[in-house]
Amino acid sequence: MSDYKLYIDGELCEAASGESSATYNPANGEKIAEVAKGNAEDAKRAIAAARKAFDEGAWPRLSGKERSDWLRKFAAGIQKRQAEFAKMEVLDSGATLRKANMVDTMGIVQTFIKFAEYAEKVPEREELPHFITGPKPAPNYLLYEPIGVCGAITPWNFPLIMAGWKIAPALATGNTVVLKPATITSITALMLGQVAAEIGLPNGVLNVVSGPGASVGEEIAGNPMVDKVAFTGSTEVGSRIMQIAAKTVKKVTLELGGKSAALVTDNVNFDLAARGVLWGTFFHNGQVCMSGTRALVYESVYDEFVEFLADKAKKLKHGDPLSFGTDLGPVVSELQLKNIERYVQIGKKEGARLVCGGKRVTDGDFAKGYFYEPTIFAEVDNKMRIAQEEIFGPVLCVIKVKDDDDAIRVANDSIFGLAGAVWCEDLERAKKLAERMRTGTVWINDYHLLGPEYPFGGYKQSGFGRELGVHGYNEYRQVKRIHVDATGPEYRQHLTLKILMGEK
Ligand code: NAP
Ligand code: MG
Repeated sequence: MSDYKLYIDGELCEAASGESSATYNPANGEKIAEVAKGNAEDAKRAIAAARKAFDEGAWPRLSGKERSDWLRKFAAGIQKRQAEFAKMEVLDSGATLRKANMVDTMGIVQTFIKFAEYAEKVPEREELPHFITGPKPAPNYLLYEPIGVCGAITPWNFPLIMAGWKIAPALATGNTVVLKPATITSITALMLGQVAAEIGLPNGVLNVVSGPGASVGEEIAGNPMVDKVAFTGSTEVGSRIMQIAAKTVKKVTLELGGKSAALVTDNVNFDLAARGVLWGTFFHNGQVCMSGTRALVYESVYDEFVEFLADKAKKLKHGDPLSFGTDLGPVVSELQLKNIERYVQIGKKEGARLVCGGKRVTDGDFAKGYFYEPTIFAEVDNKMRIAQEEIFGPVLCVIKVKDDDDAIRVANDSIFGLAGAVWCEDLERAKKLAERMRTGTVWINDYHLLGPEYPFGGYKQSGFGRELGVHGYNEYRQVKRIHVDATGPEYRQHLTLKILMGEK
């Protein structure tokens, strides 16, 4: 028996195989719960339920106001269990309680509320200029319609938020959904299934199936009954999903990796810029797709800035993620810890200078979990692997640049293009720099600030499509054009027929 069950066709249920898998707390290695382990068969059942709810159910035909009411109910259902959601996000994924409260739970509620607002306010119909063919112009208009069954596949770093970014716009626009969370952090996504059951969301409208990417994930990407797949995760898996989805020409949106640059110009407030760079890199231990893990520091301030950064980084406090005083919790898993250790060795071999960190935290109880020191490399060349590849851990590369042109050249010399920042007190100059960066988001004198009304997504191999904002809303809508020949039979020109048949 599992503690957290799949949610298919309105029912909380065990996996068809009866299997479950244990999930562990990365802060101390202790088992938290048994989670139902779905496979392709469960995914097929969930997809069939979502298909039926879309083709035969009321959901896609509800008014925007009605769907908006459901989304608000959903948000209230999450809010009612906010403390439990936050706690489970901490235990399952290693988030700090501060992050789980101020980012994860608050973020998902705000996302549902924003998309509820869009469902009410964003028009589902748009008039176009008339088509002029004869004595009376022909009205043309657009209908924005849901796409159909949407698959959502999410990563382990922000389990709750990533699920919300997909479920909320998909449901707001009248689609039905099958969500597959990352295996090592499935609990809060399965709790969203519980909330759907608690509020009595119509059967099949939302389904949640935990289980391996290779079975559940690939079934969602390949099943011909699925119309769209929204994926957040690694560039490698995103590319594979695109290939599988290509066979049935599904719409795909991908939010992938990043190696974002924070430009520290020669005109900064040292203290604020240093704290900003640390926040940009070490928030959630750098396990954030948009982390600013390359600091491009101008040569005139470089040495002083590196020293300043290291000094501040050493003051970040590891601790029990359930305590509000903790800055840094564990990284998500042993596998991720090993990956970080491997990259730190690579950095040393490549000749970067280790300024601080560079090892696991093992004193006392920390030895039981996967804690890693905030790590800073200076004298990094942008060509090094540590500057080009996504480490997804608390590792900052500080790179020296000469001037604005050099900074832009280095910033854009990456296969990724997700985000970035410019630290500069001259805002006009900062905006010019921001506009030259080839990324989907740039912050000036800030980092990580997202909001449900601002579109988020990548350039280059960071993916395509946008989440959040009206742009994100429209990723879940089809556009249908309707042309009306309103001239009446006596005047009807049939211009199109004349082209084919002349006057016959
Ligand atoms: P991942 O290995 O790519 O996994 C992401 C999701 O895909 C998981 O649910 C995983 O399931 C599933 N999956 C794995 N193989 C699959 C397959 N063959 N077919 C279908 N689904 C499959 O990524 P991760 O390690 O969880 O997350 C870290 C990555 O996500 C980083 O690269 C990061 O940059 C990226 N990310 C991007 C954004 C963004 O918005 N751009 C946000 C957050 C994270 P299992 O867990 O069962 O393997
Ligand atoms: Mg876990």
